[in-house]
Amino acid sequence: MSVSVDAIQIDEAAFRGPVVHPGDPGYDAHRMIWNGAFDRCPAVIVRCAGVSDVIAAVKFGRSSGLPVAVRSGGHSFPGFSVADDALMIDLSLMKGVRVDPESRTARVQAGGLLGELDRETQAFGLAVPSGIVTHTGVAGLTLGGGIGWIMRKHGLSIDQLVSVDLVTANGEFVKANADENADLFWGVRGGGGNFGIVTEFEFRCVPLGTQVLAGPVFWPMEQSGDVLRFYRDWVAEAPDELMTIVVHRKAPPLPFVPDELHGKPVVMVICCWAGDVEEGETFIRPLREFGSPVADVCLPKPYLTHQAMFDPSFPPGRWYYFKSCDVAELSDEIIDITVEHSLQIKSPLTSFPIWQMGGAVARVGDDETAFNGRSAGFTYNIGASTETSEGFVEEREWVRSFWSALKPWHEGVYVNFLGDEGAERVSQSYGPEEYYRLQAGKQKYDPDNFFRINQNISPS
Ligand SMILES: Cc1cc2nc3c(=O)[nH]c(=O)nc-3n(C[C@H](O)[C@H](O)[C@H](O)COP(=O)(O)OP(=O)(O)OC[C@H]3O[C@@H](n4cnc5c(N)ncnc54)[C@H](O)[C@@H]3O)c2cc1C
Repeated sequence: MSVSVDAIQIDEAAFRGPVVHPGDPGYDAHRMIWNGAFDRCPAVIVRCAGVSDVIAAVKFGRSSGLPVAVRSGGHSFPGFSVADDALMIDLSLMKGVRVDPESRTARVQAGGLLGELDRETQAFGLAVPSGIVTHTGVAGLTLGGGIGWIMRKHGLSIDQLVSVDLVTANGEFVKANADENADLFWGVRGGGGNFGIVTEFEFRCVPLGTQVLAGPVFWPMEQSGDVLRFYRDWVAEAPDELMTIVVHRKAPPLPFVPDELHGKPVVMVICCWAGDVEEGETFIRPLREFGSPVADVCLPKPYLTHQAMFDPSFPPGRWYYFKSCDVAELSDEIIDITVEHSLQIKSPLTSFPIWQMGGAVARVGDDETAFNGRSAGFTYNIGASTETSEGFVEEREWVRSFWSALKPWHEGVYVNFLGDEGAERVSQSYGPEEYYRLQAGKQKYDPDNFFRINQNISPS
């Protein structure tokens, strides 16, 4: 049930950006987020045009007593960027991105999407490590850590974060970096939206160039056991330049997938070599020569093209459900469970990635940031998708049973891949020491838990 429109006394003149109420044109468009499984009706949406709007929105949140949901890219798996009867602070209009090629830094406002940041950095052959779907928000992704195609060479998004501008739960504007509010800077590098609303990020850019050797090699899914056993031994020797993701799914009807494979269950090892292409070809050769791949489209290509490869597989509006875990290694037992469950996939839209971790990510000290997956071997992001509610419950059960079967080997979980799974899972995703430190930060910056519609850290 939505709060009645009349009950919301909001001074619209206090905002530069639009204030959207239930019934207004655009209300439905702006309350919808990426995951179509959530159909929630906030009491009011403030579409911030700048920092002053964010400050005014936080103050309005305080004075009205409405719960507050924060939306940047809107890609929260559990749908935390929108809530029924809440104030939705929507940052998606704040899209400024400015790259300084001399200092090799990029400033990005909170509403920037990965693809928008990539476009600007790639104009100079630079990149900020981010994620694998271009319409994901820089903000939410970075605040949880940020894993992606060049992380093994260049670290997580937070490993290249220099500074943030943030509006606290009191509506105060602060900066956080290594010298100023260093405790807050530690917390925003993994602690999510618990400490305030970040209005702008400053990143170091890395020199990547504009081409990478990248793309999938495909085998029939029945061969997945052999492929995964070969793969785990092969990647054990991989240099940092190589990042891989293994995907099991029914092959989608996309231009880069040969027609004869469409709809057939396949396992793909998708590579991204962030370095010299010839060296990459040499390292990747044994993979493409293993068994009899049914297709191989691992080719030199623009980084921007590779970054967009998954976009058509995860469009907004479909119904999605995820459960995730880290594992130390791909043991025989884990491989057997993976093969067994992958062969049960029903929906042609279900596609789940297994992420190779390590490299530069693992070389940053555990206590340097709040992110807690640095020693993970692989991250399972078991996700199911259907076009509508039809078939969704069955696919969700498949996710749950697959995830439960892996339970004896769970090592941790990436906070950005968590669903709405409760306080214990959030603390598990940080581990006891980091969680304790995050709680102290929460107590200092948001003692009454104003920002609580999120992967919540309770104040100590
Ligand atoms: C299709 C898809 C692909 C993904 N790929 C990757 C990937 O490659 N790598 C990876 O690491 N993760 C990935 N993720 C997970 C992603 O990092 C998280 O879902 C992240 O929260 C999305 O950020 P957002 O800004 O789009 O989401 P939103 O839903 O807008 O925000 C999510 C949460 O972050 C907080 N938040 C958002 N903006 C702010 C802000 N400005 N200040 C303070 N708090 C804020 C709020 O608590 C909010 O509820 C992916 C998710 C999806 C749906």
